[in-house]
Amino acid sequence: MMNRRSFLAAAAAAFAPATLLRAAEGKRRVVVVGAGLAGLSCAYELRKLGFEAIVLEGQGCAGGRVQTLREDLDWGLSAETGATRIPDTHHMTLDYVREFGLTLEPFKGGDLADVLHLRGQNYVSGHGPEPDWPLQLTPEERHLGRGGMAKRYMAGPLELAKGSEDSLSVPGPILEQDHYTLRQFLEKQGLSRDAIELVTLGGDKAASAGLLLLVELNEQVTREYFHIRGGNDQLPGALAKQLELGGAIRYGCRVTSVGQDDSGAWAVMEHAGGHETVRGDYVVSALPFSVARNLFADARLSAEKQRAEAVLEGEGAERVCEYRSGVGEILGAWAGVAGGARPPAVVCHWRERGKARHDGCA
Ligand SMILES: Cc1cc2nc3c(=O)[nH]c(=O)nc-3n(C[C@H](O)[C@H](O)[C@H](O)COP(=O)(O)OP(=O)(O)OC[C@H]3O[C@@H](n4cnc5c(N)ncnc54)[C@H](O)[C@@H]3O)c2cc1C
Repeated sequence: MMNRRSFLAAAAAAFAPATLLRAAEGKRRVVVVGAGLAGLSCAYELRKLGFEAIVLEGQGCAGGRVQTLREDLDWGLSAETGATRIPDTHHMTLDYVREFGLTLEPFKGGDLADVLHLRGQNYVSGHGPEPDWPLQLTPEERHLGRGGMAKRYMAGPLELAKGSEDSLSVPGPILEQDHYTLRQFLEKQGLSRDAIELVTLGGDKAASAGLLLLVELNEQVTREYFHIRGGNDQLPGALAKQLELGGAIRYGCRVTSVGQDDSGAWAVMEHAGGHETVRGDYVVSALPFSVARNLFADARLSAEKQRAEAVLEGEGAERVCEYRSGVGEILGAWAGVAGGARPPAVVCHWRERGKARHDGCA
């Protein structure tokens, strides 16, 4: 039977365009937009295949949504403001961790509460009794609470998909929900408007319900989570270092549009020196869809890609977890989830489990 690892490898091979792989023979040039983990790993792998890859990054450093804070923390402590835990199902990430000689430690989530910012107030959820939500919920919705509603109303397709986790294709019961946004999916289940607001707080109601269910299925089959000792930013740091050695990353280059014609593709960017166009045989977007959708008006995207760009958004939640290097246990954290207000209200952290430092919280 195919396991999840071979499934992912087979899926990657199935989606790799044959023309792209063949093109390596002639040392073709690929412009990669974005130096987050996606862009860095893409450029790194392309270079292994013999391509010339150039990465254009809008900010002054690599890593994107993988960010570790160290300043202003006690010695030996670091705090993840982005990607926090690496599931054992993320084989490619774990392979890179090994390749670059980084050390994993178990991620112990601990008994953490969510802090939800709802209609101007902060609520702590997931610990003790359910907060008195300022929402018009039905008696059943109020009884189930936020977690109970999510469990009950997302459960149907997940139950039906059970047993097909190792399948090569997306399980049918989940794929069926790809036609609906999360909001539509929850409406179909009969949830009230306010209950949908509560269940999806900090998330993206307009994203594909199928995609979110797939993420949830992955969570369910994950047995263990890890963290990189000393901070997760070491992984994009190691990839970036490899690429920087060959001068393959250009920082401070914000791409404003991407185009394509019969002879290749190009990215137009702004940097300290003005505007510049970088041409290649291909341009790869490693940007969040919410950004990418504004840049590709002149590119010949397939209908499927156009649809994906139209429906997918970036992430809206923020989280800070604090680590002591070598101990590998979260000392305390609040997962901050904001609704309504933008930018999302975030987050404070505390040094000892259960001792909240409320000052400074939005
Ligand atoms: C708070 C938080 C917690 C998370 N927790 C986890 C977790 O525990 N486990 C997990 O697996 N995942 C987690 N994630 C998700 C994970 O961080 C992301 O999926 C991953 O980092 C995305 O990588 P990416 O390369 O696709 O995008 P990004 O990291 O967003 O990279 C995109 C890059 O493109 C650059 N860019 C943007 N616009 C332009 C432009 N116009 N021109 C040039 N460059 C541009 C950005 O500066 C950025 O460097 C979390 C995310 C967040 C925000």
